[in-house]
Amino acid sequence: LPLAHSGTQRTTCPYCGVGCGVQASVDGAGQIHIAGDPAHPANLGRLCSKGSALAATTSLQGRLLHPQIGGRIESWDTALSTTAQRLKQVIDEHGTEAVALYVSGQLLTEDYYVANKLVKGYLGTANIDTNSRLCMSSAVAGHVRAFGADTVPCNYQDLELADMVVITGSNLAWCHPVVYQRLVAAKRQRPEMHVVVIDPRGTPTCDIADQHLALKPGTDVALFNGLLSDLHRRGHVDEEFVARHTQGARQALDSAELSVDEVAELCGLGIAEVCAFYQRFGRTEKVVTVFSQGVNQSSAGADKVNSIINCHLLSGRIGRPGMGPFSMTGQPNAMGGREVGGLSNMLAAHLSLSEPGHRALVQEFWGSPRIASQPGLKAVDLFEAVHSGQIKAIWIMATNPVVSLPNANRVREALERCPLVIVSDIREDTDTARLAHIRLPATGWAEKDGTVTNSERRISRQRGFLPAAGEARPDWWIISQVAQRLGYRGFDYTAPAQIFDEHARLSAHANSDDQTPRPFHIGGLAGLSAEQYDALQPIQWPVRQAGDGGTARLCTEHFYTANRRANLVAVTYRAPVHAADAEFPFVLNTGRIRDQWHTMTRTGLAPQLSNHIAEPFVDIHPHDAMLCAVREGALARVRSRWGRVVVRVRFSAEMSRGQIFIPIHWSQQTASDARVGKVVNPAVCPISGEPEFKHTPVSIEPF
Ligand code: SF4
Repeated sequence: LPLAHSGTQRTTCPYCGVGCGVQASVDGAGQIHIAGDPAHPANLGRLCSKGSALAATTSLQGRLLHPQIGGRIESWDTALSTTAQRLKQVIDEHGTEAVALYVSGQLLTEDYYVANKLVKGYLGTANIDTNSRLCMSSAVAGHVRAFGADTVPCNYQDLELADMVVITGSNLAWCHPVVYQRLVAAKRQRPEMHVVVIDPRGTPTCDIADQHLALKPGTDVALFNGLLSDLHRRGHVDEEFVARHTQGARQALDSAELSVDEVAELCGLGIAEVCAFYQRFGRTEKVVTVFSQGVNQSSAGADKVNSIINCHLLSGRIGRPGMGPFSMTGQPNAMGGREVGGLSNMLAAHLSLSEPGHRALVQEFWGSPRIASQPGLKAVDLFEAVHSGQIKAIWIMATNPVVSLPNANRVREALERCPLVIVSDIREDTDTARLAHIRLPATGWAEKDGTVTNSERRISRQRGFLPAAGEARPDWWIISQVAQRLGYRGFDYTAPAQIFDEHARLSAHANSDDQTPRPFHIGGLAGLSAEQYDALQPIQWPVRQAGDGGTARLCTEHFYTANRRANLVAVTYRAPVHAADAEFPFVLNTGRIRDQWHTMTRTGLAPQLSNHIAEPFVDIHPHDAMLCAVREGALARVRSRWGRVVVRVRFSAEMSRGQIFIPIHWSQQTASDARVGKVVNPAVCPISGEPEFKHTPVSIEPF
């Protein structure tokens, strides 16, 4: 490949929400060299195994290089015009609600912005949802309920400054490895830092745990409600903070009323270990609670998030160095997607689709002919609407829902019967792309320019250093070209810098409508020249004024509700939707492994990453395995009411009895249909719409 950029390019890793800075260069022999960027505040030069292997994922192997219609290569002009014509035909015959987009936390903010503008402002529907629904939406709902806005108070440094770090529902060591490495280094320097891991499984994250609470799956609300009660009983309430900055404490305490004995019973824990956790939390001022998919991916996901935030609000442990509830985002740009309204219930600039004033503000700014008038369908419901025929055209960008969604066979059926499936992707033959009528080749990580926002609200530039593969084009360009062919103005972008500028100006405009400052404000980054955009250094929002250097912490003096007080939200424990029974006696938990990402369309290309774990597996406690007659190293069939999968058995004493674990990565493409999504139940959190990936009743038997 010829060089697009000579010298070393500073860019950002495209995998997890840590958002590590990467230095990429290509030598005279065409070899790509990858290193951590020592100047990037997220990773300070570190990279994990996935980031270090990025060079091996940039080959042309399996790339979608040309637009295709019905499997035939076509020119871009034909593909774009056909896409627009066929979308218009569906809209003319069935209305705009018959069209949907399903996008991805892998998109850059600029791509995401244009997709949302097209759907919500021009098509006038909100049927655009994102795979971030599968990982982040419970945190979003919890933040909005507690703080009045979807915002993360903390940053990575707070983890290093804390005296107690509670890691709940997160295998941080494998899923956010560089943040974990920072924590390991901090604990090495200050061994008195106390780390508690709350997880039904023993995971590599437990290597640094002073305490591991292996609670029963789905019982987090009981554990944190019990903590709230205990903080109150033992006099650890920050009365002044609660009186000045919060509301709802009384109701939250009333609904949280649980004795330690009751908590231990519900959570399957010992009374002494629950007491030890509560007492340590109560007497430690600097506490950070990190939470991730084990909390979010639940039919009680939003309530779990609020039960955690309640404890920090009642004890006043928020908004100061070394303390706060800290949601770790799964994907590289889940946060950026939230900024532009990537979820079907949001508008750009963190505005709400449910607020008429917000809708008018965005429509006026865009000068768009219409604006969606109500929240759209969330991911699981959206594919159900495709299945029922309510949605007749779907455009899927940078994601592989036939593998990643729950009840995945039904998703495949839905796409098989959908009259128009458009897929924009870098890969030619994913489980989803093979069902597409139109395939549009998108540029990949090494070829793209734009921005992403990581878990600590830090916006970083992603900079391309290779030319586009084949005829691949950036997603923002593809969407803009289709929008123009649909006859819409306002999509004449020629570079991502223009889109970023519009996004920044809209955030300033969104803050001009009333007296309550919104946390998302990057007006200080508006008006950047192309050179300034290219040179943009990593910066944490809000950035209200040019040159203000960003904001390390939020929720320091006030919150973002109408009266600027935080809400303690009254939540009560409820069991997961589907309980284990005689036919399906085990609880299936799903998640990531260290060296693969999502459905392996990129990490699967790096041989060194497959060396870690080469094939799909099920982890099971040896005693359970004996009872089911499954042998270590043999194949086993795992079955639920929704589907079945065949995987290799691994014995693990780290698994609690009655629970099994299967990773999410493998697909029909990579492992003769070892898609665990087929098995996962489709129950969702009624508030966030996030699926219950962590709790599906299953059986297991020899294959
Ligand atoms: Fe990439 Fe995450 Fe690893 Fe950093 S920790 S190198 S962002 S995968």
